[in-house]
Amino acid sequence: SKTPIVDIFNSKFALGSQVTVKGWIRTRRDSKAGISFLNIYDGSCFDPIQAVVAAELTNYTSDVLRLSAGCSVAVTGELVESPGKGQQFEIQATKVEVLGFVEDPETYPMSAKRHSIEYMREHAHLRPRTNMFGAVTRVRNCLSHAIHNFFYERGFNWISTPIITGSDCEGAGEMFQVSTLDLENLPRTDAGKIDYKKDFFGKETFLTVSGQLNAETYACALTNVYTFGPTFRAENSHTTRHLAEFWMVEPEIAFADLADAAQLAEDMLKYVFNAVLTERADDMAFFAQRVDKEAITRLQKMVSSKFVRMDYTEAIDILQNCDKTFEYPVEWGVDLQSEHERYLAEEHVGAPIILQNYPKDIKAFYMKLNGDGKTVAAMDVLAPGIGEIIGGSQREEDLAALDKRLDEMGLDKEDYSWYRDLRKYGTVPHAGFGLGFERLVSYVTGVQNIRDVIAFPRAPGTAEF
Ligand code: ATP
Ligand code: MG
Ligand code: MG
Ligand code: MG
Repeated sequence: SKTPIVDIFNSKFALGSQVTVKGWIRTRRDSKAGISFLNIYDGSCFDPIQAVVAAELTNYTSDVLRLSAGCSVAVTGELVESPGKGQQFEIQATKVEVLGFVEDPETYPMSAKRHSIEYMREHAHLRPRTNMFGAVTRVRNCLSHAIHNFFYERGFNWISTPIITGSDCEGAGEMFQVSTLDLENLPRTDAGKIDYKKDFFGKETFLTVSGQLNAETYACALTNVYTFGPTFRAENSHTTRHLAEFWMVEPEIAFADLADAAQLAEDMLKYVFNAVLTERADDMAFFAQRVDKEAITRLQKMVSSKFVRMDYTEAIDILQNCDKTFEYPVEWGVDLQSEHERYLAEEHVGAPIILQNYPKDIKAFYMKLNGDGKTVAAMDVLAPGIGEIIGGSQREEDLAALDKRLDEMGLDKEDYSWYRDLRKYGTVPHAGFGLGFERLVSYVTGVQNIRDVIAFPRAPGTAEF
């Protein structure tokens, strides 16, 4: 029969072979018989490996018995089947090399005990060492690969849109301004004014809130494109859903309408849910056990059910006629708050909703006006437990209609001349959406606070490094 192949930290080894593994100690347990059991992990995968160390080892009392959570080691020995419970294989150690002790185990902030997520947040530089942040990081990685794969398989081109920009795409006034440190030495015109044509450093520039307008230029040339990059919003908010710096996935599709964008959103979400369920089953089991017992079943349900499409007007009707009392009152024309979105998705439907056709007055200038003259072809995907995770729309492709909107909103046509050109020269219906990547990670893992699904959260009071 063939020798079994064992996967340790993403490398393959034959059972019975000599192996060396490098990692950190999670726990050490000693038996009365003078054997130590080391639980070693390297963060690259969920499963740790157990090393069994006998007292005969020369550095047993000097080193092995000093090992505590967080110490780094290189362990060599034979890979064998484990007679004990809890693991299939283990290493019979013949050598334990300590790379780094933990100087003061009693005060090591990431000791092996279970820490609260708030406590971990306060130790942002050490929290990657916990099971929780290992799992978050691997799921995040899987989701981002799945997103790229999804679009690649469908022939989309990934484009990078600028981070420094002059335009406020959403018109929400939530931009961080970018300025140069060297205002004195900017190129000047003969009249002594800063010459923006030679240098943008003196121009008012901002960190991008969305790559959409730029993405449209490529969709109106390459048909199907997407962006996946960082976006910035100066929202001085303390919600569990907003960061000042977050990642957004923004597909833009040409020869397409709102229904096409909605279908793309549904297909994409199902594709990435499937990927994480199969590729990160171990981490998802951890989340189901530790964070949210529905974590796996919720995704399984999503994959097999059709997302409900609903009109904004119908949603208002439902919200006005339900038993629930809301903090923010509802009437036709208001933007929905997360309490409303969550009620609709969690209690009314019990599944994600694609809510469509919002009042034009609460939406951005670029959205396509519907025939009723009151609503625009906008959509939000509302997920149970979170609320909005995607916002999208069909874009106004008609130049006259777009100009009318720009005028109505007091926006300067000059500033949008490049955007208007897309309508002047071979205009096509096109649509797209933005998925907040951290909201997706939060939804998938069940980790409630968005600050806990990104490595270095940027939000009020969190930017120390
Ligand atoms: P919200 O209503 O929750 O403030 P929004 O309508 O302002 O979101 P959009 O402009 O539609 O957001 O952006 C598209 C997506 O980006 C949103 O659906 C959401 O998933 C995500 N997003 C928006 N703002 C933030 C933020 N501050 N932090 C993290 N994700 C965000
Ligand atoms: Mg917002
Ligand atoms: Mg919104
Ligand atoms: Mg939105």
